[in-house]
Amino acid sequence: MLPEKVVLCEVGPRDGLQNEDKLLTVDEKVDLINDIVDAGFKVIEVGSFMHPKAVPAMANTDEVFKKLDLKEGVEYRGLVGNAKGVERAAACGCKKVKLNISASKGHNLANLNKTPEESMAGFKECVDLAHQNNMEISGSISMPFGSPWEYKIPVEDVEKIVEKYLELGIKEISLSDASGMAMPKQVKEVCTHMKEKYPEVKWILHFHNTRGMGIANIYAGMEAGINWFDTSFGGLGGCPFVPGAAGNVVTEDVLHMLDEMGIETGINIDKTIEIAKKIGKLFNTELPGFILKAGKNTDLLK
Ligand code: ZN
Repeated sequence: MLPEKVVLCEVGPRDGLQNEDKLLTVDEKVDLINDIVDAGFKVIEVGSFMHPKAVPAMANTDEVFKKLDLKEGVEYRGLVGNAKGVERAAACGCKKVKLNISASKGHNLANLNKTPEESMAGFKECVDLAHQNNMEISGSISMPFGSPWEYKIPVEDVEKIVEKYLELGIKEISLSDASGMAMPKQVKEVCTHMKEKYPEVKWILHFHNTRGMGIANIYAGMEAGINWFDTSFGGLGGCPFVPGAAGNVVTEDVLHMLDEMGIETGINIDKTIEIAKKIGKLFNTELPGFILKAGKNTDLLK
């Protein structure tokens, strides 16, 4: 049984842009985000509030939020690493922040310079600050399916983080395959297990397409009953800590699959393809998406 409706969260403005050497201006980002809203997306990851030295491409996230005309019914979320990030988010009008921690100790050390336990110790302060500022807060778990440091990640390690999030009152949790090591069978098994064990959680899946498994993993997630997925325009992106990392699974490719299978998203695919074309031009690069090259199935009828 596949879901009738799926929510695609466009994470390109954060996950896609953060690895590029070319920095987009505030106006370029605002235009892109407005295009994304216009295409029908209801959840957008606008940027991150990490230290500008650590992620230079995200240094203007505060300015982008200030300049955006936030539309009712659209979630504009920002990634935060610590309480300072939550403060910055609150100050610029961001209403939804997302914490991140890795299930892989090696990855967490490389990415955040802390062990997972040290990271989690700082989360309560972030949650309290978010609530004081009337902001929503969610959590993500990187590398729950595999890591270049430890290879396999025991499911108990993922559960420990889920339980910590629940203890803090966080019920929206994203499983983020930043290493691109997840396989569909495993995704279905892990997600089925997690849904059964923690029925109160709203799950989001986030796949990188490093080994071409992104779209198959989304299908496997849907088979497990999950219907929220992060994708990135044109497949732009990578991960600075993972060798050969590719971007997120490609928004327009996933959307094309869902459209063709009759699964509702509320998103206009032609507008989405135009956004990917714009990204290709902005970065003067050939993007990995299939639909961008081959067109849609329905184009063949013309
Ligand atoms: Zn990612």
